[in-house]
This record gives sequence, C-alpha cells and structure tokens, in this order.
Amino acid sequence: TFDVSAPWLNRLVERKPRQHLQAVNDISFEVPLGGCLSLVGESGCGKSTVARLVTGLYSANSGKMQFASGPDGKTLSAQMIFQDPYASLNPRWRVKNIIAEPIRELKLRKSAAEIDERVVELLKTVGLSASDGQKFPHEFSGGQRQRISIARALASEPRFLVCDEPTSALDVSVQAQVLNLMRRLQDEFGLTYLFISHDMSVVRHMSDRIAVMYLGRIVEEGDTEELFARPRHPYTQLLLQTIPNIEKPQRDRITAGGEVPSPFKPPSGCPFHPRCPSATARCSAELPKVRTLASGTRVACHLVQED
Ligand code: SF4
Ligand code: MG
Repeated sequence: TFDVSAPWLNRLVERKPRQHLQAVNDISFEVPLGGCLSLVGESGCGKSTVARLVTGLYSANSGKMQFASGPDGKTLSAQMIFQDPYASLNPRWRVKNIIAEPIRELKLRKSAAEIDERVVELLKTVGLSASDGQKFPHEFSGGQRQRISIARALASEPRFLVCDEPTSALDVSVQAQVLNLMRRLQDEFGLTYLFISHDMSVVRHMSDRIAVMYLGRIVEEGDTEELFARPRHPYTQLLLQTIPNIEKPQRDRITAGGEVPSPFKPPSGCPFHPRCPSATARCSAELPKVRTLASGTRVACHLVQED
C-alpha cells in the first residue's frame, strides 16, 4: 500500500477565487498499490484539497503532510487529471506538443523522432489517432479532450495518478468510455489511482477502497464491496441513498438531508450532527474517534458498535 497521512493538518486553507475555503483535518488513508482508492463526498468536503496536496499543487500552511512510500522505498510521483480537460490544455498548442511537453521536460526521449514516435504511441494508447496530434484542443469533444489529458499524464510515465472528478463534466455514455479506458490503462501499466468523485455509482465501478469525506474529515474508509453492502456511518448511508438515477443529469450537490454547513463555522462535536437522523446529545458535544472494525472498515461515529 501507499500511505498518505496528514495527522496535524489543522486549518489547512485553500483559497478559491470567491474566497471559498476548504480545510482538511486529520486525514489519513492508504492507497493500495496498483489499485484505486476513491475519496467521495459532496462539494466543499475537501476532497479536491486533498488531491492537490497529494500532487504537490498545494502545500499545507500549517500542520504536516507525510507520505509513506511504495515497495521500493521511493515516494511515488503523482500526476493529476482534472475535471475540466479544456481548462487544463493550452488552447494555442497542437495536441502533439501538449503531450510532448512532459517527455521533453523530463528528458524521457532524446531525439525529435523518438519524441514524435512516443507521442503517436500515447495517442493510440488512449484511443486517438496519429493525425489527431496535428489538431488543437478546441477541435475535440469533451471525452476526446479528457483522453488527451490522460495521454499527457501518461507521458511522464507516472505510477500514481490523482484523478479529480475526471468524468463529471461528460455525458453519461462518454463517461463510461473514459472510465473503462482508465481501468484498462490501470491494468496495462500497473497504475495506482487516487480517484476523487461525488458520484457513488462511478466510485463503485472504479475503486478497491473508498474513503468518505465530510467537512474536511474522513468519516468512513473501507473495502468497496463492504462499504456498499454494509455502510456503517450515517453519512455514508445517506450518500448511498442518493445515488443518482443514470437517466438524470449528474449534479455536484446532494440535496437530501440538507446542505453541507459552512467550513468557516463547522458544527461542534460530530460535524455531521445537524443532518444526522441518529444524532444524540453526545453527538453535538463530542467529536467521535476513528475506530477500526473487524472488517477493516474505519469509521468515526459514536453509535457504530462492533458487530
Ligand atoms: Fe450521527 Fe452522532 Fe454518528 Fe455523528 S456521531 S454520525 S451525529 S450518530
Ligand atoms: Mg472539487
């Protein structure tokens, strides 16, 4: 496994354009090597903050971030795939140059001919053609643009990919194609994924393990099948009840059970208590500790007892 933990990561602050703030606290999870761990939760729960910390796009402004290593003792280098492929692809560059950039930067191929050859190989790997390399990003559909971002991420030969809502901007049919491509690439190249999503049906398809986040904390983490069969935390149960109908458009906001409170003023005690159907007096007074059940699931709720 590949451990990521940030034990004292209090008041880590991400400032977005409209002063939106996402803090994460006491986050710790393990990503199985060659497998996929998904971080799930509603908008604003801090999952994108964690993704950006892991890839080094952000650093903690207080607290500490620790990465344990892969089996050879080296920290895995992470590449990131974003939700909006258009925003992350330079519109003035031909696709072949977009994909070639990390190859040049990291000096992974020597001659121009070798670089060209590698770019064509990467285009084909993601289901595009050699001639697509001559085009510009605007000439492609959303799904094809996400394929281009994946090719660019693979160009630096990473072993670990952090994927932040990589398909949530796509139509459902295209979404399935891109997810299937990502699974095939995972097998082919032995990639490890940290997958970020608000969509439980996508997460079920992709992950070996799931960590459920709420207001900057992980409230439940466990094996995918176990979590779907026996969700232990009331928030996980709520998420599973709101799996969107495949016919309906996806939305990045789950309305059942009320809105997520502001991270500026997190509730006392268990942060989920204002929305929790099982809350007791203890819940608003005391933050539940994380405990590990016999199944290996870790859960933070006062009411969850061992089976
Ligand atoms: Fe609900 Fe209390 Fe458990 Fe929090 S600790 S999830 S409020 S029952
Ligand atoms: Mg996000």
